[in-house]
Amino acid sequence: MMKPYILIVEDEAALITLLHYNLEKEGFEVGEAVDGEEALFMIRERRPDLVVLDWMLPSLSGIEVCRRIRRMPEHKNLPIIMLTARGEETDRIRGLDSGADDYVVKPFSPSELVARIKAVLRRLRPALSEESISYSDLRMDLAAHKVTRDGAAIHLGPTEFRLLRHFLEHPGRVFSREQLLDAVWGQDVYVESRTVDVHVRRLRQALNAGGRADLIRTVRSAGYALDASES
Ligand code: CA
Repeated sequence: MMKPYILIVEDEAALITLLHYNLEKEGFEVGEAVDGEEALFMIRERRPDLVVLDWMLPSLSGIEVCRRIRRMPEHKNLPIIMLTARGEETDRIRGLDSGADDYVVKPFSPSELVARIKAVLRRLRPALSEESISYSDLRMDLAAHKVTRDGAAIHLGPTEFRLLRHFLEHPGRVFSREQLLDAVWGQDVYVESRTVDVHVRRLRQALNAGGRADLIRTVRSAGYALDASES
């Protein structure tokens, strides 16, 4: 199973070391950034599954980093947990107001943070914490890398598998070709947007084999969605 990738943004070396160790032990892949600029750079390079963001950072504050992440169209839904040493209620509200999904007040135990991370991932990225994702008569077994439709095995290439996984994580939502390129191919890979059409066509052919109802909706000039409601 794919390990969720957590980016820790914190300038206190001892805390980074502690969190890194504990998150790895829990089966997460961990990245580190010591300030906001580095964090924004790393997020553009590779999308984390969740960001643990310290409020008090040199130069850019955690709040400002959070706002900038939310302004990036492709990362506006990125799960963020804010670390704060301040306890005031107004600050907490400001923390959530800035777009953080949750906050943890320092000092905290690593197990408390791990529990919060798991809760946020369960809520926002259910596919990461579960063994399989289902939608309509489709089922994707993440550990075995297998897909079935109405119980019958469907064979997908690796790109089609990732594409379907992305659709399954956001059923019903329309994605542009550019969004799909970023999510499935990654931002540092140069691929023409026509390539997306090619892979969507292959995915569609595999899913619809045997004359089954089409689960992929083409939204003219907008993109594609996984959507069983119209079929
Ligand atoms: Ca700090």
